[in-house]
Amino acid sequence: MTTSPTSAPEPAADAPSGPRPGAVVTLLALAALVAAGVAAVGVTRGLPATADTGGIPHHAEPGVEAAGGYAVWAYNDDGRPIRWDPCTPIDIVVAPEGAPPGTDADLERAIAEVGRHSGLHLRVMGETDERPAARRSAYQPRRYGSRWAPVLLAWAAPHENGLSLRDTDRGLAIPVAVGHPGARVYVTGQVVLNAERDDLEAGFGDRADAWGATLLHELSHLVGLAHVEDRDQLMSVHPGEGPVTLGSGDRAGLAAIGAEHGCLDVPPPRDVEVAPPPQR
Ligand SMILES: [Zn+2]
Repeated sequence: MTTSPTSAPEPAADAPSGPRPGAVVTLLALAALVAAGVAAVGVTRGLPATADTGGIPHHAEPGVEAAGGYAVWAYNDDGRPIRWDPCTPIDIVVAPEGAPPGTDADLERAIAEVGRHSGLHLRVMGETDERPAARRSAYQPRRYGSRWAPVLLAWAAPHENGLSLRDTDRGLAIPVAVGHPGARVYVTGQVVLNAERDDLEAGFGDRADAWGATLLHELSHLVGLAHVEDRDQLMSVHPGEGPVTLGSGDRAGLAAIGAEHGCLDVPPPRDVEVAPPPQR
């Protein structure tokens, strides 16, 4: 039941929040590219002849919202959200190169917030010199031992190593699910922050220009949430202004993908190819 392979959902790219000219157009263009790229992204190579063919969890860009004011990134065939196993800690390694001052504390607080509302146990294992990449391997035994690679959280330049992080994006989240199509579970992923967005500040002072807000938003993608239209939610593509707080929809969404829904079987770690997200 647990034989594996992969799929890499398209990343959730986040344009700058706040009223920036052209931002809406850019986002619409991204949505179109994502839609166009989906068919090509599901390819997996070097996989055993199992039933696994790497279906792609479709990222719900604004519009596919549950009644509770949130959107789930992708669903399994039984109609339940693709989730992480809440009975296994979500380990994170941080590549600190290029990190703005003060963002360590922001990450700690963002992790605590996501954990509080989801019941998931996210924890930082330490630092790494691994760099993010569109084709990051989900299994790196030489670096991380015989386990699924931990989540990589890194600060990077736009388009580094084939990432679809654009100049205007604040960040990018790429959760990776494995397992049979229709019955997947997240096991690793990447959170990439734009090291060249020097207009953002550490802390949680404002939704539009704070790294804390960005980290909280990207971690919420990582655990399985997608964008919503409501600007009162931090999962809005363009969250409103003011102090950073999780809205009622954000909290409901984190609960919907969270620990209260029980443990999941995690496929054993193995070398699987993660298809890259669509590129421009
Ligand atoms: Zn986003």
